[in-house]
Order: sequence, then structure tokens, then C-alpha cells
Amino acid sequence: MDPARRQAIEDKVHGGERLTYDDGVALYDCDDLAWLGGLAHHVRTVKNGDRVFFNVNRHLNLTNVCEASCAYCSFQRKPGQKDAYTMRVEEAVALARTMQPESITELHIVNGLHSTLPWKYYPRALRELKAALPGVALKAFTATEIHFFEEISGLPADAILDELIDAGLESLTGGGAEIFDWDVRKQIVDHRTHWEDWSRIHRLAHAKGLRTPATMLYGHIEEPRHRVDHVLRLRGLQDETGGFVVFIPLRFHNDNNRLSHLPMASPAESLKTFAVSRLLLDNVEHVKCFWVMHGLATAQLSLNFGADDLDGSVVEYKITHDADGYGTPDKLTREDLLDLIRDAGFRPVERNTRYGTIREYEGPDPARRDEPQPVWA
Ligand code: SF4
Repeated sequence: MDPARRQAIEDKVHGGERLTYDDGVALYDCDDLAWLGGLAHHVRTVKNGDRVFFNVNRHLNLTNVCEASCAYCSFQRKPGQKDAYTMRVEEAVALARTMQPESITELHIVNGLHSTLPWKYYPRALRELKAALPGVALKAFTATEIHFFEEISGLPADAILDELIDAGLESLTGGGAEIFDWDVRKQIVDHRTHWEDWSRIHRLAHAKGLRTPATMLYGHIEEPRHRVDHVLRLRGLQDETGGFVVFIPLRFHNDNNRLSHLPMASPAESLKTFAVSRLLLDNVEHVKCFWVMHGLATAQLSLNFGADDLDGSVVEYKITHDADGYGTPDKLTREDLLDLIRDAGFRPVERNTRYGTIREYEGPDPARRDEPQPVWA
């Protein structure tokens, strides 16, 4: 980047001035990671100080049967495939009850688009989960699923959301966003929910008082300009509704899907994506790193590249295993997570689904600096 452009962007960021599409593309063009990280860190510090948020949640997938076949998806199965499953509501409740001893505050529920399950299954599942775990917030369904419920029920999203909220829904999930640009999207997305419906459903959810996350799946066939376009569409919608509480860049994984021939984004590319997203998205308070998809070392570094929130299952006891074959566990104990945050120089804060504070912890422990720190896988 030429020095004049660099100075102009720095002045904008420090002056609180909004960056443009061209600024975003220029930032992705820049290989000075330390400079990008420093700028993004300035913005995250103004917004969130030295706090790093986390919540204690677990994921629940009611069914992996899906009528769509998105190119990047490793989750979906077709009916009759040997590991295809659909839970009866009673099974889902029994599974959720097993998570209770872990002091979870949130269940994150996303599912395949199951073409023969009746729509009423979903509000019934929420009602019974809420009755079984009354203190646990239900963050459930992507905008894609809500759009699918419209199709299978014949009801508008307005009525769908009302019924789900009545059954205990506290937030949608942020998925189904992938990359909004149509030229990319039409090559990787097989369901029928694109920017128009995705934004319509989040707009409606925000109007009903829900606060929702937004995601971006990067590191496959898209170019940096598509990431910029994606984030700026979200920024425009956020100007309108103010309902997005967090932005989550998700790294594409090339295992067991139709894009398995592609390489995955490097940690440097991921850190750049966190930083540029933080800089462009001036009206969303939080940027989250879902550490299961990035590995713990990159997740820890992301805290210096604009991220202020770490997501991924946190448990009260030690049952970790390698989730992605690269040494990343799929669960961390609370103490491990607190150490990971503190060792990066931040103060951990446990939050609820709406980012209200549950508990603030002490910051970095100076005594730990006297000894070599663990290398986070
Ligand atoms: S809609 Fe696409 S991403 Fe979602 S489960 Fe089905 S195939 Fe996977």
C-alpha cells in the first residue's frame, strides 16, 4: 500500500471515520500484518477495552438430513445414508439434560433442511427443551432454516418467528450467510436463501427484539473483494436495524465436501480477515473467533487482530479430543480457556447470549510470566 493511502486509512480509523469499499480492498492487499493488527486492535480496544468474552454453550443438531447439497458442507446427509439421523424431541431433551452438569447458559441449535419433518416439530422441540432447561437460552436456526420453515408450513416468517419466540427462542444463529455475492454464492450454495431472504429474516428478527449474530464463510473460492462486499452489506443492514450483536468470520474447512481439493486459508490470511472485518464493521460491537475452526494458537492471536470474543464449547471437566485432525480439541475446560485469554494479555468475561455480563475474572497473572507458557495447539 502506498504511504499516502496508508496514512489516510490510519487517520480515518483514529478519527472514527467510516472506511469505504476501496479502503477494504486496499487493506486486504496489504501484507503488513503487524500494522493491520495494530489498527484493528485500536478499534477493538476502544469498543471493548481489555475484555475477552466467552460463554458456556453446547451445540445441538436435531437432524443432519438435508435436502440441499452445499459444496462446502461436511454435515448434511441424505435420508437412508448410514450416519443420517433425526432425533425425536424426547431424545433431544434427554441429550440436552446430559449437558446440564456443565453449567451451560446457551444451547446453539442448527439443523439440516429435512423435507418430511413437519414444521410443528421445531416449536415443540424448543418448548420441551426450555421446559427441561429453563435457565438455558435457546439460540436456534439459521435464516436459511426460517426461510425453509416458511416453505414447508405455508406461513410467513413473521408468524414463524412469533411462534418460535413464544416457544422460547432467544436468538437466531448467524449461519446461512456464507458469501453474499451472487457470482460466488451460486457456485457453493445449494439452498434457496440468498441475501434478499437472509437480510429480510434478520431484519424481521431484529424488529421483534431479537439480537442476532452474522457470519461469513471465507477461504474457499471467494476473493478479498467479496469479503469486503459481504461485510459492507451487513454494515448497511446494521445501520438500519442495530440488531447484530457480533460478527463471526468462519474459516472454510476442506474435509469431506465437494471443495476438498481447495487449500484452506492460512493463519495469516485468517488474522488479516479478522482485522479487516473489525475495521470495516464499525457499527457491530463484537467480533468472535470460533476457535474450533481456527485452532487455539490462531484464536489466541486473533485477540490482537480485532476479535474480542472466543466461542467454542467450554466444559467444567476434561473431556477434550482432536476435533479437526489438526490437534484442535472440540472442548476446552473453563480453566484452560481462562489461561488462554490471560496468557494473551486480556481479562476474561463470561457473558450470556445477549452479551450481558455473568462474571468478570481477574486479568493476566504476572506470576505465569515467570515460567514458559504452554503452546496452544
Ligand atoms: S443447507 Fe447447505 S450448509 Fe445447511 S446443512 Fe444443508 S447442505 Fe449443509
